[in-house]
Parts: sequence; C-alpha cells; structure tokens
Amino acid sequence: MLEIEGLVKVYPGGVAALSGVSLSIPRGMFGLLGPNGSGKTTLLRILAGLLAPTAGRVVKDGVDVTKEPERLWPRLGYLPQDFGFYPGLTGRAMLRHLLALKGVSSRVGLSALVDELLERVNLGFAKDRRVETYSGGMRQRLGIAQAIAGDPDLVIVDEPTVGLDPEERLRFYRLLAELAEDRTVVLSTHLVEDVAMLCPRFAVIRFGRLLAETSPTEARASIAGRIFEGFVSKAALDALSATGRVTQAHLVEGRNVVRLFVPEGPPPEGLAPASPSLEDAYMVLMGAERRDTV
Ligand code: ADP
Ligand code: MG
Repeated sequence: MLEIEGLVKVYPGGVAALSGVSLSIPRGMFGLLGPNGSGKTTLLRILAGLLAPTAGRVVKDGVDVTKEPERLWPRLGYLPQDFGFYPGLTGRAMLRHLLALKGVSSRVGLSALVDELLERVNLGFAKDRRVETYSGGMRQRLGIAQAIAGDPDLVIVDEPTVGLDPEERLRFYRLLAELAEDRTVVLSTHLVEDVAMLCPRFAVIRFGRLLAETSPTEARASIAGRIFEGFVSKAALDALSATGRVTQAHLVEGRNVVRLFVPEGPPPEGLAPASPSLEDAYMVLMGAERRDTV
C-alpha cells in the first residue's frame, strides 16, 4: 500500500500544483487521470521521491518517502514523461548506460541483463539498431526496460501512451498489464481509454484537487440511467452544449450524434437512453464542458 497524505505543492513563483491530495494506492495498476496541467507529473515526482512537497507526505511500507527517498529508490522504477535518449546509441548501448547510471548490477553480468530486459519488452530484434530508428512505441518499451531493471515493486509511468499509434498502444498496454500482475504500477494519463483498458482503480484530478477515487464499474454505475443519445441538428447541439452536460459529440455519416447527461427528469425529445461509458463518467466529473469536434 502506498499512502498519500495531504499533499500540497506550491512551486516557487506561487503556482499551486497540488492543493491537498490524499489517496491510498493498492497493489496492481492504479490510474491517475486528469487533463494537462492538473498536477499529475508533480504528484508522480513527489511519489518517486524526486520532488519535495510543500506539505503532506507519502508513506510506502512504513517508510516516509518524502523524508528518506533513498530508501525507496532501490525498489522503484520510474519512466518520466519526457524521457530522453541518445539517438545515436543502439538500444543495447543506451540501456546499458541507463542501468550503469541507476547502479543496477547483476549476477549474470550487465550485458546479459541488458539482453534479458530487451527480450522482456520485445526489443530483442532491434537491440543493435540505433535508438533514432525506433518508433514511439519502441522508445517507450526501452524506457520500461530501464524502469523494471532491478525488479522494482513500485513502477511509476508518466503519460507513457502519448504519441503511440493504436497498434503500438495495444502492445504497450499488454506490457503494462503484465507488470502490474505482481507489483504496484502507477500510471498517469489524460486518456480515458488508458484507464478503461488497464486500471481496476483510478483517481481523477483537476487543478491539483482530487475529484474522485473509484473504479471504472463504479464510475459508470454512478450515472446509470442518466445518459441519453441521439441525432440532433447543429443548432440543437449548440443549445445542448451550452448546458455543459454534453459528454460526447461526434459526427456519424455527416450527422451530429450527441450524448447527454441528464441529472434528473426526462431527456430532451429525440434522445434515447444509452449505457454509460467511462468517457461519459469522466466528462460528467469534469463538468462536461469539453466537446469533441472531430
Ligand atoms: P500535468 O502533468 O497534469 O500536466 P503538472 O504537474 O506538470 O501537470 O503541472 C501542474 C501545474 O504546475 C501546471 O500549472 C504547471 O504549469 C505547473 N508547474 C509544473 N512544473 C512547474 C515548475 N517547475 N515550476 C512552476 N510551475 C510548474
Ligand atoms: Mg505531466
């Protein structure tokens, strides 16, 4: 169990990135979902013992991570949001360098460990290729390889699915799900799909505050019977959007389809009951103010 107690972070200059966040994170995969600027990276860096909070603390297995981060690090794997590589190195040389920096050693020798980790993340076929030739998904897998070296029991990954194409994303989901089978994995994302695919539990944050701590099933159940869907005219869509309760709006064969949260009473004419999606639940939490205009 990872306990987060009353975390506050005010950056120099006065930006309040976290305004009192408390959470209990169980074993397995845990999602931290929120829009850009909501405080996800700040929270993860504090969890990893890399940034001191203004107030509050993080406790893992009885250790106060905020006071003694060096006791956490040997059992921690961290994939930062802006993980950098040397593009001219091969995957193998890059990973070897990262492991040396991290101080990882191995009974079988560093080279054997590097090869084993590369196989584990399905990069064995590309280990002698330069990192600059890797796709986004391959780079993220290399990032995971360094994060899991030393067999950490806590792995923190910050928006790892950004920029991956759908196929790469699926492959990466499988790797993360496998990692979470026997350890704690904390994953931040602004994509509801990541949470739906991976997380039995998740927290939603915005403006540095916790809006919910729930499961996908609970989140959908909380709005059961209150989501309605149907075709509408552009004018009707604009009118509905102004209510702030549109959870999704998209085009199907040139016509506007809207999904609407109706907190009580009957829906507007022409809309029929729909089963709630996690996206609906997230948008209701966010105040349903964003609209997909694809
Ligand atoms: P997220 O990862 O959810 O996008 P961040 O934790 O990066 O959110 O940022 C939260 C808020 O803190 C934002 O308003 C951001 O501009 C601000 N912020 C982040 N890092 C710093 C920093 N080093 N100095 C000042 N403000 C920062
Ligand atoms: Mg971030």
